[in-house]
Amino acid sequence: MNLELSEEQTAVRELARDFTAREIAPYVTEWDRAEQVDRAIVKKLGEVGFLGLTIDEEYGGSGGDHLAYCLVTEELGRGDSSVRGIVSVSLGLVAKTIAAWGNEEQKQHWLPRLTSGEYVGCFGLTEPGTGSDAGNLTTKAVRDGDTYVVSGTKMFITNGTWADVVLLFARTNDQPGHKGVSAFLIPTDSPGLTRREIHGKLGLRGQATAELVLEDVRVPASAMLGPEGKGFSVAMSALAKGRMSVAAGCVGIAQAALDAAVRYATEREQFGGPIARHQLVQELISDIAVDVDAARLLTWRVADLIDRGLPFTTESSKAKLFASEAAVRAANNCLQVFGGYGYIDEYPAGKLLRDARVMTLYEGTSQIQKLLIGRAVTGVSAF
Ligand code: FAD
Repeated sequence: MNLELSEEQTAVRELARDFTAREIAPYVTEWDRAEQVDRAIVKKLGEVGFLGLTIDEEYGGSGGDHLAYCLVTEELGRGDSSVRGIVSVSLGLVAKTIAAWGNEEQKQHWLPRLTSGEYVGCFGLTEPGTGSDAGNLTTKAVRDGDTYVVSGTKMFITNGTWADVVLLFARTNDQPGHKGVSAFLIPTDSPGLTRREIHGKLGLRGQATAELVLEDVRVPASAMLGPEGKGFSVAMSALAKGRMSVAAGCVGIAQAALDAAVRYATEREQFGGPIARHQLVQELISDIAVDVDAARLLTWRVADLIDRGLPFTTESSKAKLFASEAAVRAANNCLQVFGGYGYIDEYPAGKLLRDARVMTLYEGTSQIQKLLIGRAVTGVSAF
C-alpha cells in the first residue's frame, strides 16, 4: 500500500478542509444546541461534489476513489459528526448501494438527485424489536399484482425526517427457514408512510433521526432494489462499506480531539506554566495521537482494498471497531485535558465525546463487530 496521497487526493482533502472551516465549523455549537443542522448544508455538499464521491459521472457523481471518500468523510467528521452522517448515509448507504445493485432505470432516476443534494436518502433496516439481529426484521411487503403493500416500523433512522427516499428492508417471504428479505426504494411522501423525529439524543443532535411507520404503503414492483430475497445481502454489502465511512468519521473526531487538546494544553497555565509541561497531561495527549494514527491507518487500508477490488469486509469491521472505540477514548482524554471547561459546550470536548459515543453502537455495535471478526478468524459463528 502506498501511504502517500496522490495530487488529486490531496486536493480533495484541502477542499473538504476549507469547506468544513467555512460552512460547518462556525455553526457547530448553534446547530447542536438547536438540535438541527441548517438544511441548506445538503445543497452545498452536493454542489461541491461530496454527495457524489465514487459515483460515476454519467449518474451525476463526482468520481474519485474510496480513499478520497475517506478523506472527505474524515474532514467533515472533524467539523461536525451530524453533517458527516448526512453524507455517510445519503451517499454511503443509499446512493452507493443503488449504484451497486440498481438497474439502469433506478440509477438514472435516483442517483443524479441524490448526488446533487436535491434529494436526501435514508436507510431503513433497524426496527423497534430487531437491532443487532437485523435478519429477523418483521416489516412485511406483500405482493398484490404489480405492487407490493408494505407495513411495519423502522427505528432510529438517520436523515429520517429529511429524506425523500428510504432504502427499506422488508420480508417478502415468510417460509420457515427462508430469510426472504428484499430491499425497496420508497419515496417518503408515499401515502401511509409517517415519520416521527426522535429528540433527546446524547449526541448527533443536529441530525434528523426518526421513527418511520408504514401502514399499507403501496409501491410498484419496480421499486425493488436487487433480486427478491436478496435484501439482506444488499443491506450487508451496504454496511460493509458503510463501516469504513463510520471509521473515517471517527478518525475525524479523534483528530479534532487531538487538535483541541494540544491547543488548550499549550495555552492553559497551572502551577506556573502551560499544562502541556506536565507529564500526565502529555500522556493524555500522546494516547490520543496514537489512537488517531492507528485508526487512520486501519481505515485507509479498507479504502485501499476496496479500490484494488480485494476482499475488505472483515478489515472494515476491524477499522470500525477500533476507530469508534478510539474516538470515544480520544474525546474523553481531550475532555480531561480541558478540566472543568471540557464539561461545558462553549468548548469542543463534550460534544466530541457525545458524538463519538454512538459510533460504537450503530452499523453494528462493538460486540457485533467482534463476533464478525471472530467468525472470520476462527471459522466458527458465535451468532
Ligand atoms: P440491541 O441489538 O438490542 O443490542 C443491545 C446490546 O446487546 C448491545 O450492547 C449489543 O452489542 C448487545 N448484543 C446484541 N446481540 C448480541 C450478541 N449476539 N452477542 C453479544 N452482544 C449482543 N439503523 C438503521 O437501520 N438506519 C439508520 O440510519 C440508523 N441510524 C441510527 C442513528 C442513531 C443515532 C442510533 C442510536 C441508531 C441508529 N440505527 C440505525 C440503529 C442502530 O444500527 C442500532 O441501534 C444498532 O444496530 C443496535 O441495535 P439495538 O439498538 O436494537 O440494540
